[in-house]
Amino acid sequence: MSRAGDEAALPGYGWLFPLADGRVNLGLGGVPHRRHGATDLRATFQQWVTRLPGDWKLDESAAASPLRSAALPMGLNRRPQYRDGLLVVGDSAGMVSPWSGEGIAQAMEAGEIAADAVTLALTRPPGTRREQALLHYPAEVDRRWRAHYRLGNLVAEQVFARYGYRPLLNPAVMGSKATTRLLARLFAHLRS
Ligand SMILES: Cc1cc2nc3c(=O)[nH]c(=O)nc-3n(C[C@H](O)[C@H](O)[C@H](O)COP(=O)(O)OP(=O)(O)OC[C@H]3O[C@@H](n4cnc5c(N)ncnc54)[C@H](O)[C@@H]3O)c2cc1C
Repeated sequence: MSRAGDEAALPGYGWLFPLADGRVNLGLGGVPHRRHGATDLRATFQQWVTRLPGDWKLDESAAASPLRSAALPMGLNRRPQYRDGLLVVGDSAGMVSPWSGEGIAQAMEAGEIAADAVTLALTRPPGTRREQALLHYPAEVDRRWRAHYRLGNLVAEQVFARYGYRPLLNPAVMGSKATTRLLARLFAHLRS
């Protein structure tokens, strides 16, 4: 997170989403590092807010609710995805991509896989064969995403948590067509 000028870049990803009623959702996210701990997101958030244009009036006195935080369930870190007749999709199954922090497409795709599994299961009588149809759901999620997310978890831990996304903006990386194409595929969750 940086701005042109003399202010140092801040760690993390800041957002300002407009809401329908004229208010905005303002927040900051970061990747914690196992050994070095998390960035002080509250302090960074305050620093960032002070850098926003004053006439936007986005200081704490204008806040509609207190500052709250939560972890993004990421990199398939919520398991199991199926047990005892319950299938979980999207954030409840930790499907946010460790590459990009995105999870909408994965939640929708997982919903489709889960719906197919349930539809098939309901054509079968209760028992082992029905259970097998439902167990197809976590197996298919693993088949589609596990390797991609494992690599993403590793890169998030070793690179993004330590240095943010700045190493990727290096001219040597950005100047290579093959590298940018590969990164685009990894970030956009493309398999082909
Ligand atoms: C700041 C931020 C920015 C993001 N930006 C992007 C982005 O640009 N692109 C992207 O792909 N992803 C983005 N994500 C991630 C993305 O929002 C989630 O991965 C995605 O919405 C997950 O979908 P979901 O259906 O699993 O959960 P959700 O979209 O959270 O849907 C769950 C729904 O269940 C409802 N609910 C909860 N409890 C109950 C209950 N007890 N009874 C009834 N309803 C209930 C909630 O109100 C909610 O509507 C972002 C996340 C954050 C926090």
